[in-house]
Amino acid sequence: MNYKENEAIKHLSGGVQLPTVSHTDYSLTDYTKFEEFINYVQTSYPVVFERLEFQRINNFGLLLTFKGADEALKPLLFTAHYDVVDIDKNTINQWQYEPFSGAVEEGYIWGRGSLDDKASLFGWLEAVKSLIEEGYTPKRTLCFAFGPDEEVGGQEGASKILKYLQEKYGEFEMILDEGGEIEQDKNGNLSAGIGICEKGRIVATVKIEQEGGHASRPAKNYSTINLARFITELHKNQMKQFLTPALSDYLDATYNNYDWYTKFLIKTKSIFTKCLLKRLSKEKSTDAMTRNTIAITMLKASDTINVIPEHVEITIDIRLLPGQNIEYVKNHLDKVAKKAIKGAKYEIDILSNGLPQVISSKNSEMFKILEKQIKKEFGDIEVLPAMVLGGTDSKTYEALSKNVFRFLPVILTDEEGSKMHSTNENISCDKYLKIIEFYKNLLKENF
Ligand SMILES: [Zn+2]
Repeated sequence: MNYKENEAIKHLSGGVQLPTVSHTDYSLTDYTKFEEFINYVQTSYPVVFERLEFQRINNFGLLLTFKGADEALKPLLFTAHYDVVDIDKNTINQWQYEPFSGAVEEGYIWGRGSLDDKASLFGWLEAVKSLIEEGYTPKRTLCFAFGPDEEVGGQEGASKILKYLQEKYGEFEMILDEGGEIEQDKNGNLSAGIGICEKGRIVATVKIEQEGGHASRPAKNYSTINLARFITELHKNQMKQFLTPALSDYLDATYNNYDWYTKFLIKTKSIFTKCLLKRLSKEKSTDAMTRNTIAITMLKASDTINVIPEHVEITIDIRLLPGQNIEYVKNHLDKVAKKAIKGAKYEIDILSNGLPQVISSKNSEMFKILEKQIKKEFGDIEVLPAMVLGGTDSKTYEALSKNVFRFLPVILTDEEGSKMHSTNENISCDKYLKIIEFYKNLLKENF
């Protein structure tokens, strides 16, 4: 196939070329690029924007509504985001093609956002366009919500769209967002993970105040030493592990992927729970499924080489298992601080945008529809309920539905998956075309 001539691939490539980078400090975001992006999708899909109702919520949140034939049925919400994370300046020359080139080369579309999450956004638009051309009208109303700030928490996008949808519809039958994919292991085996819940995120800062001074006369104990001790203790005292029901299901379903000893522990998990959890903690990905993780990411101390600082500070990224609370984390940090920080004042602050609470059921009709469609499109592969370790906009939309699922219909090897948010992000042209086909058939055959 000549990918460069393919209309759908050209559309995505053009979308990747617009650097819609979002920033935690919103004043740094260049909204002219967002405006250009909105203009670009409107001119690329005139059929869609003519047939569907289009609204801009809080200016940059995009909402498309495809009115269903039966208004008594609860609507469906499909979401994606069009903001992307920034490029790490130190890695710019490691990119095979410019980060915002949208290059169509070697059978791939290259650039930031090609996989996360513009493939999904353009995938929906292509699917809907093609359905309209076939004269399709959905039974249920379909809403497509595209967020402008998912990567930085979604407070201007998803949060505002949520309010609008809540007032207008109340409840949705299902929400489908990014989050899970089809993993391909080293032996070529495929397994699809549909996210049924996601970990929550809180940010903690710990500040230590202590007498500073000249670096030529250091005391036995001072601020940076206290900080180092706190970090070491915190890392040593990881938070407690749990075998949640979702994890238990996941282990049963992925049983064949483990060595004999882990298999034995999975089989006997109700007796040897502790041994199993210890075993899972050896790999960082399975460890993260068992506990609230703590990552110490930012440190602040002296600006000057010969000054012992009076004030030091760290920022900690904490990911919580579903159903955990902030108080529990605060107590943990406090306990460690009491033990590690000596002869100094300290302060712990916690920031949170609300934590995801909903665990959707793998026994629901909607899960089964997704499962059936995956098997139809990708063959008789394993379909597992999964816990998503990163954050998505769907945590914000949880209030709208009992069925919140996170799944992008794409097969990813470990290597392909690791390019998300990283150098050389890309998506295979064939896999992108498959996303479109999946979305189209999912709508046409079920809704
Ligand atoms: Zn994303």
